[in-house]
Amino acid sequence: MLVIAPHPDDEVLATGGVIQEHLRKGHVVKVLLVTCGDGQRRGLFLSSRHFLRLGERRYRESLQALQILGVHEKRVIALGYPDRSLMHLWADSSKPHTSPYTKACAVPYEWAYRPGAPYTHEALSSDLHEIMIKEHPQVIYLPHPRDRHGDHHAVYLFTRAALHKSGLHPQLRHYLVHYGAWPFPAGKCLDKPLLPPRSLQQGAHWITHELRAEQLERKCHAIHCYRSQMHYIEDHLFSYVRRNELFDLQPISALTLQREPRLIRLPKLLIGLRRGQSNALSRE
Ligand SMILES: [Zn+2]
Repeated sequence: MLVIAPHPDDEVLATGGVIQEHLRKGHVVKVLLVTCGDGQRRGLFLSSRHFLRLGERRYRESLQALQILGVHEKRVIALGYPDRSLMHLWADSSKPHTSPYTKACAVPYEWAYRPGAPYTHEALSSDLHEIMIKEHPQVIYLPHPRDRHGDHHAVYLFTRAALHKSGLHPQLRHYLVHYGAWPFPAGKCLDKPLLPPRSLQQGAHWITHELRAEQLERKCHAIHCYRSQMHYIEDHLFSYVRRNELFDLQPISALTLQREPRLIRLPKLLIGLRRGQSNALSRE
């Protein structure tokens, strides 16, 4: 299975429990980090070098957190595309985008999947397509199309387009991270269930993974690895530590993908989803 995370930490917040469940069942788990979170502004007058160091640091934090869950760093692929800029890449393919944070216009990290890849729509599409063909995942965890963070929405769009091009039909499980004050209440509530926002219930098909006690404990432990984030949004990070994790098999806005100026329709994928695998996560 493949987890596609826009930023380092999304993979553990949304899928930290289910990753362990897949590993327990002997599945191969791979994690794809699309950006390294190198656009997070915490202060004034920060240099491009600061943001590059932040990207490096957040990547290492993810490796450490995933190691706790049982995912070896060899199974983590970091693309190094620009944080907070993925919608720009989706919308504009004419010239490389320059990150307003790192000032880079190509992947600046030597440990990335393709160092020096230009920050363009084509480069990211091509990397995703290549990875899909090579890894041939049977299950993909990807951002929910109604996630309100632009990078999350863009990752959804890029992933669907890459799958369409590759002709693959994996099971798609969409996870939500940014949606107003959701999950509510904020902070660690180990005994509370994670429920979908009311406005995303109609027409959707949510499935749930109930975490075992040891999975919950390990997920908490892994979240502590994101030290660059803990200082600022500790409560928010722990809001995702609940009895269960949630995935939508059939998000409403998957019906069409809009990319100016052309419209891309994905009928084959949707047929695959509808036939899909209901409640495939329930305990065996
Ligand atoms: Zn994110």
